[in-house]
Amino acid sequence: MQNFKKQEQFRHNWYIFVTNYGRVRSNETEKIIMPVINHDKCPLCQSNAIKKRFACTDHFATGETFDVYECTDCHFAFTQNVPDEKEIGRYYESPTYISHSNTNKGITNRLYHLVRKIMLKNKTGLVKRLTLLKNGKILDYGAGTGHFARAMKKRGWEVTAIEKSDKARELSRKEFDFEMLPVESLSDIKDREFDVVTMWHVMEHIQNLDNMWDELYRILDDTGIAIIAVPNSKSYDAQRYGEHWAAYDVPRHLWHFTPNTIMRWGEKHNFLLERQFTMPFDGFYISALSESNKGSRLHTIKGFWNGFKGWLAQAKRRGASSSIIYVFRKRR
Ligand SMILES: [Zn+2]
Repeated sequence: MQNFKKQEQFRHNWYIFVTNYGRVRSNETEKIIMPVINHDKCPLCQSNAIKKRFACTDHFATGETFDVYECTDCHFAFTQNVPDEKEIGRYYESPTYISHSNTNKGITNRLYHLVRKIMLKNKTGLVKRLTLLKNGKILDYGAGTGHFARAMKKRGWEVTAIEKSDKARELSRKEFDFEMLPVESLSDIKDREFDVVTMWHVMEHIQNLDNMWDELYRILDDTGIAIIAVPNSKSYDAQRYGEHWAAYDVPRHLWHFTPNTIMRWGEKHNFLLERQFTMPFDGFYISALSESNKGSRLHTIKGFWNGFKGWLAQAKRRGASSSIIYVFRKRR
């Protein structure tokens, strides 16, 4: 009974944290024994020379800690001992999950929606610019609520959207009359079907990376492109905040890419990294969240200030950007 109460209190605290951005102590939960994925070698280069970088805390759902490991040969970083596909679901459960919410209350939420609007314009514009197509065939993999996918459809593209979450697919069907497919349907897609595949902050969540890259290669047309946005663990904010960097986001983020390691992932699967674009807004949000993870007072103000410094850094050097959009093309 005592434990149950504790858990309830814990849930309540996290609810307040997520909704109000406030600070809560979180070391009180008990670890539940569950199947985990342990890497005894580097998933990218297969070297045995892997070592712990540091431990990170799950600030979103459970307060549990997970180790981030790094390969000393190729410097690829990954979360060690992550819950397997069946178990990870509960780490996504939190009372409010902003990227799936459409409410318009609160300053943080309003800002978030404004930035989302600007980014949507940037993303659709980018697809057009890179392909020089007025309309084509696009797959948005990990489509969330389908915001970007619907925007591409509106612009005349033939759109397929794949999304893992049953809830998000149902919402899309009911609210927007827009059908999204479950992840199992990826293998049903015909070879060389798409001109573009987009993955907006999705690759870091994919359990079987090798399979994902192989599928990308298979379903893309020979002249097609993959547009992949992920956090950059060599960014200004990542280096500043270390284990408190909010985009480590363990255990949901399984992989912690840098421009160099994602290029190597692409090359391993016959892709060439063609272009890189910064995501100048991400650093503000990630810095504020990182300050909150650290337990700083005035974390929003401090986060905004450091976000601004990060913004300056990425304006000078692309590799300092909190998140980066990578464009890959099939090697021929
Ligand atoms: Zn390696």
